[in-house]
Amino acid sequence: MRDYEVVIGLEVHAQLKTKSKIFCSCSTQFGAGPNENTCPVCTGMPGMLPVLNARAVEYAVKMAMAVDCTVNRRSLFARKNYFYPDLPMGYQISQFELPVAEHGHIDIHTEQGVKRIGITRIHMENDAGKNIHSSSDNASYVDLNRAGVPLIEIVSEPDMRSAEEAVAYLKSLRAILVYLGICDGNLEEGSFRCDANVSIRPWGQQEFGTRAELKNMNSFRNIQRAIEYEVGRQIDLVEDGEQVVQETRLFDAAKGVTRSMRGKEEAHDYRYFPDPDLLPLIVEEEQMEAWRAELPELPVARCRRYQETLGLPAYDAEVLTAEKEVADYFEAGLATYNEPKKLSNWVMGEVMRELNDRGATLAACKVGPGELAKLVRLVDDGVISGNIAKGVFKELFETGGDPEAHVKAKGLVQISDTSAIEGLVDEVLAENPAEVERYKGGDKKLTGFFVGQVMKKSRGKANPALVNQLLARKMG
Ligand code: ADP
Ligand code: MG
Ligand code: ZN
Repeated sequence: MRDYEVVIGLEVHAQLKTKSKIFCSCSTQFGAGPNENTCPVCTGMPGMLPVLNARAVEYAVKMAMAVDCTVNRRSLFARKNYFYPDLPMGYQISQFELPVAEHGHIDIHTEQGVKRIGITRIHMENDAGKNIHSSSDNASYVDLNRAGVPLIEIVSEPDMRSAEEAVAYLKSLRAILVYLGICDGNLEEGSFRCDANVSIRPWGQQEFGTRAELKNMNSFRNIQRAIEYEVGRQIDLVEDGEQVVQETRLFDAAKGVTRSMRGKEEAHDYRYFPDPDLLPLIVEEEQMEAWRAELPELPVARCRRYQETLGLPAYDAEVLTAEKEVADYFEAGLATYNEPKKLSNWVMGEVMRELNDRGATLAACKVGPGELAKLVRLVDDGVISGNIAKGVFKELFETGGDPEAHVKAKGLVQISDTSAIEGLVDEVLAENPAEVERYKGGDKKLTGFFVGQVMKKSRGKANPALVNQLLARKMG
């Protein structure tokens, strides 16, 4: 951008889908009444003792393996000290000097091709509670249900050079977490949260510029907007001869701007020290191999399989596997009608278009994968035209239902009866003598017009191939 290179490093906090919290047995279930899921441990009562949740370790290690990190056989928990009402212990238990995993990477697809983004470290920590500010009674409340929910923080190298790359990285990371089944990846509800560190430097300069850390973005779109705004702001500052200060800035989605929240603290401000209540975490080799064997097929492997085994183009394979639920849906459809490319066209076309238009996710689509597959088969068998099928899909989107029964009940079966279509063709030719003259004079483009008229008369049900044939025969 202009004379500057953009540098971005991302910190992602992913809430792990364990049943209980990371250091106590309280439930992590969302939606309980305020402070219902709490105990002396997660409310920081004096004398409480934390006990590490083995499932959280399993999830962290699986993520580490999925992004090619080195898993540290021995890691340590530390206390990160700060005061805030949602943190009753007065410190967060996190990993500092020795995280559970380091030195990984993921490959993202950019317009310039594949790019490798380094992952510096993955560490485990507990989430804080929630402060709720109520304007109706002018009071603030603290809900500690979330305090102690397990998180992994995934820290990237400052390897990204644009907001697009940052979003591509985040989407890949989210997909891996969801494929692993360890995080539900919901940005809006905060189970997948991203802080974006952004700086600029003149092209060719080796050292990084001073970074600002952006918070409070709850969608990919807002992450992109926040970074783009921040880059513009920093360039303006530097061009005006001023300096970027290291600070934490909050994104204001309504105004589309970032605003200074606080000066950026340094690690030493937190007075980290090893938590004396927790032993070092040791992950045995055997245990690690057992977890490795449990890893599911991940996006990259699934994408390769779609190309090599199903014969799909790279583009289709990438779009379909980018989100697990879409890939699962597509594959379930194959069980009913094993035509990968045809189903792929429908999933990437009609299904995704409808979801986009509605701003919905696949859960909203009541046309199940088997039903979609049947619909595609009806088109292939010549029972209905592609256009009618699109209409049926739209009609069934909210209700679901068997497409074959629907087509019968609504009388949508394609007219493939030559004499019926011939009658319609004759009518159209009789009603449009001027066009027929022009056609005979050499204006062959009018074919489209005639086909259109016949389709209209048949309310979309005439078999278009037959219509074309008959027209050619009558006017040829
Ligand atoms: P902190 O916890 O203080 O934010 P970390 O070192 O844990 O610091 O993480 C900082 C993040 O910022 C990393 O993702 C890193 O890649 C990124 N980063 C560091 N320096 C820069 C910079 N100059 N510009 C952009 N990103 C940076
Ligand atoms: Mg940070
Ligand atoms: Zn508890």
